[in-house]
Amino acid sequence: MAKILDGKAIAAEIRAEVAGGVAELLERGVRPRLDVVLVGDDTASATYVRMKERDCAEVGIDSRVHRLGAETPQEEIAALVERSNAEAEISGFFIQLPLPEGLDATPLVSAIDPSKDVDGLSPLSAGRLAVGLPSLLPCTPHGVIQLLRRSGVEMEGREAVVVGRSNLVGKPLAQLLLRENATVTVCHSRTRDLTAVTRRAKILVVAAGRREFIGAEHVGEGAVVVDVGIHGKEGGGLVGDVRFEEVEPVASMISPVPGGVGPMTRAMLLYNTLQAARAQAEATVAG
Ligand code: NAP
Repeated sequence: MAKILDGKAIAAEIRAEVAGGVAELLERGVRPRLDVVLVGDDTASATYVRMKERDCAEVGIDSRVHRLGAETPQEEIAALVERSNAEAEISGFFIQLPLPEGLDATPLVSAIDPSKDVDGLSPLSAGRLAVGLPSLLPCTPHGVIQLLRRSGVEMEGREAVVVGRSNLVGKPLAQLLLRENATVTVCHSRTRDLTAVTRRAKILVVAAGRREFIGAEHVGEGAVVVDVGIHGKEGGGLVGDVRFEEVEPVASMISPVPGGVGPMTRAMLLYNTLQAARAQAEATVAG
């Protein structure tokens, strides 16, 4: 029986730590604040934003949502980004993606000040991560690292394979695993003989965005398997990129869907908001 990498429990632990950090800042008169830019009426995005508001309330972070119509011009959102960069009350903010058709997310995300980039997805934040400078880390990959670390998984010197090379998950995760001194291989849709590569992994992280794609044949005996994928099931519920029932007997540890990486991602957003608020409070004192 594989041990379950319990994202739900570890995320609760992180939320409790964040709540403690927020309480300390409040004592110093600083209230961390997270702003969200939500454009259009995508149902899934609206649900995610509501969950993030609830998460903030639970740990004492103030949150504001800027709800803009799908027809909002690019320049108006760009102006909001500039105002949010300048507004001292805002610790961090992000633009909920995807944006409606006709809007270009890249220049908007690129304009977010790295000190407020709580999603950690701007090119500046990505560059800082790549060269080893301090930065706010992208929530999902950082959530994966915390899940592994806090479950006692040793990464140093071990072969880690990441399936997926998106800017959101795969690439930053490879950087973070390198920072943990893992030996990292990144697979993608052009990888030849994926099975041979994934079977080598002592730590296998799957972020391919393909429903129940990874089976027992892809996994070496005793590997640690982290499933980043999220897919809705017909009739309700969620599944991941990994065929859990089939892989669980082969793995030594495995993250479930739901209850694995999902709650970790949400917790890391709160963590980043606290980090940003702390750094800004210290800069104010020092300045
Ligand atoms: P994405 O942008 O679609 O990227 C998928 C990656 O997987 C691409 O790099 C693609 O390769 C690779 N891939 C696709 N098919 C493959 C195959 N047959 N063999 C090997 N590699 C393959 O997806 P994403 O944004 O990274 O998200 C991945 C999954 O994680 C999705 O299910 C998403 O919903 C989920 N997700 C979950 C959370 C969470 O909090 N749990 C957060 C973010 C995302 P190419 O580059 O060659 O196309």
